[in-house]
Amino acid sequence: MTTAYSESPTERVPGRAWTVRLTGHRDHSATVTCSKEGCRMPPRSRDLAALRAFAAGHAAAHAKAATVRPHAFCYCGAQQCSAHPETVQCAGAVVLILRHDPTVGQVWSVEEVCEACASRIPHITVVARAARQRRVGERPVAQVPAAARASVPGGFSSPAAVPDEGAPMPTRRPQRRRRAGGPR
Ligand SMILES: [Zn+2]
Ligand SMILES: [Zn+2]
Ligand SMILES: [Zn+2]
Repeated sequence: MTTAYSESPTERVPGRAWTVRLTGHRDHSATVTCSKEGCRMPPRSRDLAALRAFAAGHAAAHAKAATVRPHAFCYCGAQQCSAHPETVQCAGAVVLILRHDPTVGQVWSVEEVCEACASRIPHITVVARAARQRRVGERPVAQVPAAARASVPGGFSSPAAVPDEGAPMPTRRPQRRRRAGGPR
């Protein structure tokens, strides 16, 4: 546990979750709600198939738009692991999951959880994984072009190149005048 803490200097942030819910009413109509404020929902309707398709698509859109943060706390662990039978010690990389129980068919959840929890939560699809943090410090590729540049100043040894670049115009013009004015 302590090793994981020292690897990431970034402060840990709470795992996020989006819940899209289809709620039925007594008149056989239904509404879709999203836990995130500001999301546009379709109006209350009796077309359950359309609402269900919207809810699934909306949850998928949240999953697609979210970038998994490698320093996020496990959302499942923060909820006392109520999403799966037994509590586990959170471990592994952070993954983004889409959770939907087809037998219930009314709730779609997108959550940032750890790999250990994700493997125990039923009815999930792993949508994305956080990038490994270890590679941040390793950048050996940058040293290669730096070494190549150091060998370039070897062209300094040819003195002819220096006046050629500095004053080509005045040296060539007199030569042309002499040829043009020649008695040939
Ligand atoms: Zn939403
Ligand atoms: Zn859990
Ligand atoms: Zn966890």
